[in-house]
Amino acid sequence: MIGGGLAGLACGVALAEAGWRVRLFEQKPFLGGRATSYVLPNGEHVDNCQHVALGCCTNLADFYRRVGSADKIKFFDELVFLDPQGRRGTMKAGLLPAPFHMTGSFLTFAPLAMRDKLSIARAMLDIVAAKGNTADLAEPRPISMLEWLRRRRQTKGAIERFWRVVLVSALDEELDRTDARYGVDVFWKAFLMNSTGYRMGVPVVPLAELYAGCKAAIESRGGEVNLRSPVRSLHAEGTSIRAVQFDAGREESAGAYVFAVAHDALFDLMPESIRRAEPSLANLSKIKTAPITGVHFWFDRPVMDEPFVTLLDTNTQWIFNKTMLYGDQQGATNNGEQYLQMVISASYDLLKKSRQEIIDICLREVRQALPRAQAAQLMKSTVIKEVAATFSPQPGVDCWRPQQQTKIPGLFFAGDWTATGWPATMEGAVRSGYLAAEAALRAAGTSLPASGTAHQFLQPDLPPSGLISMLVPKQKPK
Ligand SMILES: Cc1cc2nc3c(=O)[nH]c(=O)nc-3n(C[C@H](O)[C@H](O)[C@H](O)COP(=O)(O)OP(=O)(O)OC[C@H]3O[C@@H](n4cnc5c(N)ncnc54)[C@H](O)[C@@H]3O)c2cc1C
Repeated sequence: MIGGGLAGLACGVALAEAGWRVRLFEQKPFLGGRATSYVLPNGEHVDNCQHVALGCCTNLADFYRRVGSADKIKFFDELVFLDPQGRRGTMKAGLLPAPFHMTGSFLTFAPLAMRDKLSIARAMLDIVAAKGNTADLAEPRPISMLEWLRRRRQTKGAIERFWRVVLVSALDEELDRTDARYGVDVFWKAFLMNSTGYRMGVPVVPLAELYAGCKAAIESRGGEVNLRSPVRSLHAEGTSIRAVQFDAGREESAGAYVFAVAHDALFDLMPESIRRAEPSLANLSKIKTAPITGVHFWFDRPVMDEPFVTLLDTNTQWIFNKTMLYGDQQGATNNGEQYLQMVISASYDLLKKSRQEIIDICLREVRQALPRAQAAQLMKSTVIKEVAATFSPQPGVDCWRPQQQTKIPGLFFAGDWTATGWPATMEGAVRSGYLAAEAALRAAGTSLPASGTAHQFLQPDLPPSGLISMLVPKQKPK
């Protein structure tokens, strides 16, 4: 296993459970890849960026259960939105069955005007009637989400204060650069099909702590997890893989090789003979990336009571109350400070700005949204710009995403960028890892455990609930 991000870890843990001796090599001194945390020189634990999951992320939930981290994710039923005019809106499920479970909170949602709500309701009904698959998603030339919304005559308010807010956060891309299929899928899977799919799961520990059980799961079955071990290249003779190469000419060989590195790092690791024989490698450069900026503030006193809020019409999209999420219900650390983390997805406009400029913008917006922050002193701050945070879900990107099983015997790919049908998320990464594990077992002819049924790691989606269960048949296990 090359790469100890979520894809590599999910694949490694699954293969170890299937009885394989897994040797994992990660170049960094910690596990978790992009979804990790580290310690700053001043001793603070900071996430690379706040990460959240949704109730519809069934494979991620399964992975956390396997590695003993499920109780480190707290689920919230209520999403709070604030606009610069001081209006507050709440989205939560009520008593009505899916797909109408959010109707009550939607009707009273103050930041949207009635005509915005009517246009949104029309588009939602369209998604429900098409069971998540509107006819225009099958057009030969994939359309953007903005085009999909324009065809449904969405108002400016609906686009800016609803569709854009949800989708830029979920998909890390602007609406005109997002394949409509991904956008529609978010609403179908998280908000319409099942009344719990929208629930937001937030880690209550620094991200790196979620992976402590992975090392144990792999090592207890005879495997090993090697940190600070960058693989430099793949050694192949023709299309026969001989080994992976490390620094100082060291080589390690295995029965199967799973490359779970980012797509833009993979091509360079492959020798010419493999590049020629595996055509999907040539397409990787067509998969573009999108940035996310995380901003961290430590105030001298509590300024926020909610665990997190979404801001409308500002650069800052989310504010997370890290102090509260890490378990202090009073919202203050021992020294009375409060730690907040802000997230700005698709943050193209911020890339050219200096860290101080970004801090100034966020501080102004946080003080406007949280009045108590106006008198509070900002003790410390930091900005983490992730230029290539995720792959960009541009229209048509799916045709460049390779399968986990390659044409080369013994070579497999995993990563959120491989073909999973999901956007670049932790759920997508775990799915890819499970699919790679299933493919490796199949290829080795060892996919049948003692029970006689094939190993299956991939979990089904949440079952349809409420009225949707009458419309859509339940998924059968493979
Ligand atoms: C700022 C930010 C915010 C995000 N927010 C969310 C969110 O809220 N919710 C969500 O679901 N997703 C979010 N994501 C996306 C999520 O983090 C990724 O989709 C997921 O972590 C990808 O996992 P991966 O294993 O596919 O890739 P990676 O995490 O990139 O893992 C690849 C691993 O391979 C290692 N590696 C690379 N080259 C080598 C080599 N030569 N030898 C050995 N090791 C190597 C890397 O060090 C890394 O550990 C966010 C991402 C970022 C960057």
